[in-house]
Amino acid sequence: MTNFTNFRFEVDGDGIALATWDMADRSMNVITPQVMEELSQIVDKVAGDEAIKGCVITSGKDSFSGGADLNMLQGLGAEYERLAKEKGEEAAMQFFFDESRKLSLLYRRLETCGKPFAAAVHGVCLGGAFELALACHYRVLSDVDSTRVGLPEVKVGLFPGAGGTQRVARLMQTGDALQMLFKGDQIRPLMARNMGLAHAVAPRDQIVQAAKDWIKQGGSAEAPWDQKGFKLPSNKVYSAAGMQIWPPANAIYRRETQDNHPAIYAILESVYQGLQLPMDLALKVESRWFAKILRSKVAAAMIRTLFVSMQDLNKGARRPKDVPPTSLKKVGVIGAGFMGASVAYVTANAGFEVVLIDRDVEAAEKGKAHSHKLMSDQIMKGRAKTADRDALLARITPSAGYSDLKDCDLVIEAVFEDPQVKAEVIAKVEAAIRPDCIFASNTSTLPITGLAKTSKNAGQFIGIHFFSPVEKMMLVEIIMGKETGEKALATALDYVRAIKKTPIVVNDSRGFFANRCVLAYILEGHLMLTEGVPATMIEQAGKQAGMPVGPLSLNDEVGVDLGLKILRATRAQLGDAAIIPEQEQLLTTLVEKEGRLGRKNRKGFYDYPEGGPKRLWPGLKGLQVNPAAAELIDMQELKQRLLVTQALEAARTVEEGVITDPREADVGSILGFGFAPYTGGALSYIDFMGPKAFVELCGKLQAKHGDRFAPPKILLDMAASGETFYGRAAAKKAA
Ligand code: NAD
Repeated sequence: MTNFTNFRFEVDGDGIALATWDMADRSMNVITPQVMEELSQIVDKVAGDEAIKGCVITSGKDSFSGGADLNMLQGLGAEYERLAKEKGEEAAMQFFFDESRKLSLLYRRLETCGKPFAAAVHGVCLGGAFELALACHYRVLSDVDSTRVGLPEVKVGLFPGAGGTQRVARLMQTGDALQMLFKGDQIRPLMARNMGLAHAVAPRDQIVQAAKDWIKQGGSAEAPWDQKGFKLPSNKVYSAAGMQIWPPANAIYRRETQDNHPAIYAILESVYQGLQLPMDLALKVESRWFAKILRSKVAAAMIRTLFVSMQDLNKGARRPKDVPPTSLKKVGVIGAGFMGASVAYVTANAGFEVVLIDRDVEAAEKGKAHSHKLMSDQIMKGRAKTADRDALLARITPSAGYSDLKDCDLVIEAVFEDPQVKAEVIAKVEAAIRPDCIFASNTSTLPITGLAKTSKNAGQFIGIHFFSPVEKMMLVEIIMGKETGEKALATALDYVRAIKKTPIVVNDSRGFFANRCVLAYILEGHLMLTEGVPATMIEQAGKQAGMPVGPLSLNDEVGVDLGLKILRATRAQLGDAAIIPEQEQLLTTLVEKEGRLGRKNRKGFYDYPEGGPKRLWPGLKGLQVNPAAAELIDMQELKQRLLVTQALEAARTVEEGVITDPREADVGSILGFGFAPYTGGALSYIDFMGPKAFVELCGKLQAKHGDRFAPPKILLDMAASGETFYGRAAAKKAA
């Protein structure tokens, strides 16, 4: 047995080598320069040793590997900048190209070394790790539900640059390959086999043997595409079949990305060009695109926010260090309605005991039934067993008696959004719980500091703000009231971590963080409508800017009446100057005159016909006093307005101290309301544009559209000093 640092390497009596990837200092295998070096030595050894017939690669951990170390890739970018300054752009580019294709060349060497390689995969095998498996001549996956293969690089603005685009496109029909590469989905074992991505699926303890057997039985050391007479699954690019594929592929790319994702464009180009070339040249084409994308602003922004920062936050970057880990076991949820029922489900799903309370047992039981339904859906899809459902349901105790809360470690209330009701509930809960129990409110609009005033223990009072639908939305805002203490924060963060969601910690403010930005987006859509911009253009501008839905659609989802209610509450608290009369008039007409409340009554900015797709309500035109001619409207400006207004609100939250760490605004904006992910989030949008350019853009929009575009002082200062949000945060940390 030869031992490497990251692999165990042994050869059995049949002459079949087994390389078990098992990094000592990491819980999950990742591709690092050292791993690449050792893998290279393994390839040399297998190829050069006549006694070795072939090699199986597997993992010694619960997962195969998550892929390349993104910090390593980020480091390459920094090295590029340094070289460009020192030796010029060309030398830097050459270095970058050579470095960024090392993995691709290594895999190709493995594929063409003359000995068969097989991958025996259990657990997640993603990105660069799955590209390794794809370079092997045979792939067997464990039949365990947690096993997943896929190329999710696009989700952080990258694309598979170690042969993934070329091998996938030679394994399946081009349309399917493009779809898989565009989406970056993680694929379950049987599906992977059906798609042609794997050769076999076997029980976990048999995958290595199955891979060895394949080698023993004479498995070929030549990839299909290196064999004579290989035919592309969808025929040649320039063929009648090819012409059925490429024009629609282009259209689908535009529809799905609005041309905002250079990495997805690079996939399209790599596959299109690569399929016209032999493998080695095709890989070179892929490498060129990869080097280009790796240096792009979009990749830098997305890696930073959606990988590095998100991981930091998930691991508890904001957790007070000196509070020992909390031992959460039992959680109370008060209010078994729309939100409470879902909170109970995600909590029980994480293994906690849950006491679910409502005004009467029937209501509490109805809330529990939601978990029954969700688990039954999982069973139907084959993702859970009846026993899992029974166990989860057994953890939820529906009740109307507050005394059941007596041994809870955390209580979360999700009762009606009414300060009076909340105050009564707080009093009842506090009479029942242990003195060290933490109390959290899921309120969306009521300031936590105000609610905490009705509590006997404001230090243990905190906001845990979920987003709907709770089961799907990954973000949770944790809101610190003025007096909230560190133990409450630590408990809230430990809880959010346990339910596997991403927390951001914000200081108390009306609308906290996410909803403030969302309201700005919706407001801009409303004002465009009152200016006379056709509704279709408004919605299209939202989507082209990279938002998941247009502002009018979004308002329909949350309720047009809720918009009006919030507007009135804002005026009641902050006065007339805090609202815009045109918006009030629009919403009053829609809600009070037309009875259009949104999706919930099938009438909002859109009509929602039974059984048919929604369509914009034709009556909107009648509400426009001065309809504008579509051809005179500057689409680019509409897009800018929709993003700038949200970014400005995010900047204000920093100025007011609501957000104290830019990572939280960025992660929160993408996870919470889908802020154009290619920007890296609402503050990265400003940072990457440069605060000076952003302030100039605000000035232009302010002159044309009003003072809501006036940049706050923090941005004026940053524009003058050249600082960025991340630069300020780094300086603050260093100080
Ligand atoms: P809901 O009306 O669906 O549910 C409220 C539940 O609380 C009902 O089941 C009701 O019977 C129960 N309840 C009312 N008074 C009670 C009392 N005194 N004791 C026990 N139970 C009582 O409302 P919802 O949409 O689930 O909202 C609940 C909370 O969550 C609100 O504070 C809301 O602002 C917040 N929130 C809602 C959303 C959303 O999208 N709906 C999102 C985030 C936060």
